[in-house]
Amino acid sequence: METENKPNLIEENIIVTMNYSLTVDNEVVDSSEDGDPIVFLQGAGQIIPGLEKAINGLKIGDKKHIVVSPEEGYGEYDEESVVEVPKDEFPSDFPLEPGLEITVQSEEEDDEFEDDMMEATIIAVNDETVTLDFNHPLAGKTLNFDVEILDLREASEEEIEHGHVHGESFSFHFDDEDFEELDEEDSSNHKH
Ligand code: ZN
Repeated sequence: METENKPNLIEENIIVTMNYSLTVDNEVVDSSEDGDPIVFLQGAGQIIPGLEKAINGLKIGDKKHIVVSPEEGYGEYDEESVVEVPKDEFPSDFPLEPGLEITVQSEEEDDEFEDDMMEATIIAVNDETVTLDFNHPLAGKTLNFDVEILDLREASEEEIEHGHVHGESFSFHFDDEDFEELDEEDSSNHKH
């Protein structure tokens, strides 16, 4: 196991452990402070493009304030993603309240979109119709990130192939004996 040689800096195919907070319109909307830091494979599109680009070259211990424009964040706000649907398409006991985020089953005939679940926010309700906004809640917003790089390691070939990180607990919580047992069973076991 090459656990000693940590990568010097963030580049493609490095597993990054990072603390972050996200501020939008002067309000902290998301933060790893009260939870766990995020762990992701750099270059695999696991985080938004603008953030991924801005952390390239950072080292362990580095802190950075990063401003991400909507086009490199959650996209521009699209008026065409706001749709009115007849109220009677909802179950009569459905709580139709503006601000409520709901999951909508796509009705596209296309196989590609079959069983596609889409997130929407109810933005208006009247006697006949409900107005749904399919934009991401942070669409059109400038994102202010504060990040701190906690750890870096090389990705395994399997992680690079899969495009995501495999269970951190695997290497930390198992001793050699456990590894042998797992190898006999199925070494491809991992969290997704
Ligand atoms: Zn995998």
